[in-house]
Amino acid sequence: MSKPVRVRFAPSPTGPLHMGGVRTALYNYLFAKKNNGTFIIRIEDTDQTRFVPGAQDYIMDALNWCGIMPTEGPGIGGDYGPYIQSERKAMYRPYAEELVKNDKAYYAFDTAEELEEMREQAKKMGMPNWQYNAVTRTAMKNSLTLPSSEVERLLEEEVPYVIRMKMPRNHDVRFHDLIRGWVVVNTNNLDDKVLFKSDGMPTYHLANIVDDHTMEISHVIRGEEWLPSAPLHVMLYDAFGWDTPEFAHLPLLLRPDGNGKLSKRDGDRLGFPVFPTDWVTEEGELYSGYREKGYFPGAFLNMLALLGWNPGTAQELFSLDELTQVFTLERVSKAGAKFDPDKTKWFQQQYLRQQSNSELVDTLNTLCEGKYSKEQLTVVCDLMKERATFVADMLIDGSYLVEKPLRFDEETIAKKWKPETTFIMQEWKEVVTNLSQFDADAIESAFKNFLAEKELGIGAVLLPFRLTITGVGAGPGMFDIASFLGKEEVLDRMEEGLKRIISLTHA
Ligand code: GLU
Repeated sequence: MSKPVRVRFAPSPTGPLHMGGVRTALYNYLFAKKNNGTFIIRIEDTDQTRFVPGAQDYIMDALNWCGIMPTEGPGIGGDYGPYIQSERKAMYRPYAEELVKNDKAYYAFDTAEELEEMREQAKKMGMPNWQYNAVTRTAMKNSLTLPSSEVERLLEEEVPYVIRMKMPRNHDVRFHDLIRGWVVVNTNNLDDKVLFKSDGMPTYHLANIVDDHTMEISHVIRGEEWLPSAPLHVMLYDAFGWDTPEFAHLPLLLRPDGNGKLSKRDGDRLGFPVFPTDWVTEEGELYSGYREKGYFPGAFLNMLALLGWNPGTAQELFSLDELTQVFTLERVSKAGAKFDPDKTKWFQQQYLRQQSNSELVDTLNTLCEGKYSKEQLTVVCDLMKERATFVADMLIDGSYLVEKPLRFDEETIAKKWKPETTFIMQEWKEVVTNLSQFDADAIESAFKNFLAEKELGIGAVLLPFRLTITGVGAGPGMFDIASFLGKEEVLDRMEEGLKRIISLTHA
């Protein structure tokens, strides 16, 4: 029987979660659900110099908003905790020592200054990329070059040291990636990475492997930027004599023009959020998020799901439940996925349309703090839903449904209001005054008769009518608007609107 599926999302709390990180979390979540597995979150905070206060809470809050909460993790619990690496600190050293004992790793006593000097010398000799590796380590201060008595003395005197991986020379590391197929890297291209630091903390590499092993992770699903680390990780599993998990390295998210990786700075610069929720830096700088922009979490996730994965059909709209049924790693592509801000809005529009009016009325009611009646808001939804992207748009763009227009679109008036329009409007107002019935059909048929009688084209009357009533040149069906407002209000607005427009056209 195959091992139970256990996957983890392992962010470092070095800042807010980029939407690429949310996609990694989502794919892990989907893969776990699809395979009756467990989705775990582990906080990788071994690099204390990059720790950002608030980042961990941000990550948890963002996953919660998205509705993809793990079932094991900090603050959640589970049998494999603690789930924060700094709280696991004590367990890593013995693993590092074990590797030294088995000649897979070694102590290195070189100081920062000595390493810098080596780099400088190498640079002068035309080698700008000096590395601590199988060749250079023979000339350095480590437990492979120093006599063992000297090593013991240095350890006893607590001279600072790191533990480095002893990378063998000229060995092909082979591993299988579920998305990329077979990957082969020769160890001559790999350096002797630090596994354990002089501050008593493991590096990302050691902690990651020890935790994935002890937490019984079956599949490592992470971003492509970790692919270069994978050969070292495979070597580490080997060195410990452990089975490697399955690997799946997800494609990068690219900028909309396809030009490079979508970075943290791109979002606000290019006019869209790159973070799930707002993030304010300690300096007070705001990075905007999808939540605060008014996106539904479902729309955001649906968009992310399709950035690098496809269902093999033309279907684009998927609920989270549907995604958990159809998602497979085999359908994740190798090529980078171009982020498309317009498509993201499209998803939001589709999700808005899928919402029932009663859900939307509740949201609008909260937004406008009870200022309008539920009946009014229901009509706002009926008339505006198809035209809006965000819930708030319906009230902003359709404000004339609940209040007299404050502003009139001067540009459209300047373009479309002809000298004879005022007179036509006055005549049409007469017709409206005499209407005995005021439903949309009755208004429309009166309107058509009016056009026929006066031999006018539709545009000559409908647009000015809309402008006097709503102040703007476009919107939902004018007869629906008029019937909702009622005869008295329509006449009132025509009177007022005509005055305002005349003053604008004469200005
Ligand atoms: N801590 C790494 C990160 O910040 C995790 C990489 C991995 O999943 O192995 O993305």
